Formats: sequence, C-alpha cells, structure tokens
Amino acid sequence: MKWLLACLATFFAFGVSASADPTPTRIVHMHVDSSFTDRERLQIVQAVATWNRTLNGQVRLEIERDEPSVIVVKRVPGSLPGPVPYAAAWTDFVGGNLINVHDDVDSKLFVPVLLHELGHVLGAEHVEQTLMSPEVEPEYLCVDPTTGRHVAEHLRLNPSSLLTCKGF
Ligand SMILES: [Zn+2]
Repeated sequence: MKWLLACLATFFAFGVSASADPTPTRIVHMHVDSSFTDRERLQIVQAVATWNRTLNGQVRLEIERDEPSVIVVKRVPGSLPGPVPYAAAWTDFVGGNLINVHDDVDSKLFVPVLLHELGHVLGAEHVEQTLMSPEVEPEYLCVDPTTGRHVAEHLRLNPSSLLTCKGF
C-alpha cells in the first residue's frame, strides 16, 4: 500500500512539473526600518533590485511599508557590538529573516553589505572570493554564480535560470 502511495505521489509530482503554465513568482515581503536615512533606503532598494534581477522572476523581494514581513532590515547603532568584532551587518541565521545593519557602515560598502546579508537570508553561507566572502569589498555589486547556485539550492529554484554576473 505504501508503494502504491509512493507511486501516486510520483505520478502527481510529474503531473505538476509537466504543466505548461509558467511557475508563479514567489513573493517575499520585506520591511525596512524607518530609521534608515533616505540615501540608505535608496541603497537598500538598489540591493533588492540587484537580487530581483538575479532571481529572474522565480522569487521577488518586495519592500512593504508595514510589518509583518518575512525579512526585516533594522538599523543598529555602531556602538552596539555585533556577533563578531568589526561586523558591519549580520543576519539572525542563514535562511533567517532579520538583517541588522550598523549605522556607521561606510557608504561605499552599504550596497555590497546589503547584497551579502540578503544572500544570507536567501540561504547562502560564507564562501571566499564571492559576494558571500566574510570580508565585503566595494566592488561586490552583483551576485556571482557560486552565490546564485547556493541560493537556488536553498530556495529549490532552477539554478540555470538565475541571472548572475561573472564573479570577482
Ligand atoms: Zn556574512
């Protein structure tokens, strides 16, 4: 009987994947704390747009005015220590939903830091010489193939449909 159920499950799974309808976009709601400056908010919008371009319609991050949201971006005073010394920003956990950003982050690093932290909440862990390197560089302004692959695995997306840059 178990075998029959497994068979039916496989049948239905194939039925779903064989559908001609395009997969609907998965929307992930984000809330950005009101304490960010206008400039910082624009930089957050830029980082979100970069991830949305990369995710290519399979998943879309949408910034909402109100909570509750899946992802929350909070501004934290630089005087409050992060989990490791000199942390510019951090997430609650990989695949989590809270991004804390120190208010004294160098403005040249703000977009790369946001791209990196969004990578964490989308499921990517640290990998050297990628957007997910623990040391973020100002030129990390796009999502490289390694980071894209890790996020695709975590979110169960088709990795070949992600639009990544060449890397760094
Ligand atoms: Zn990190």
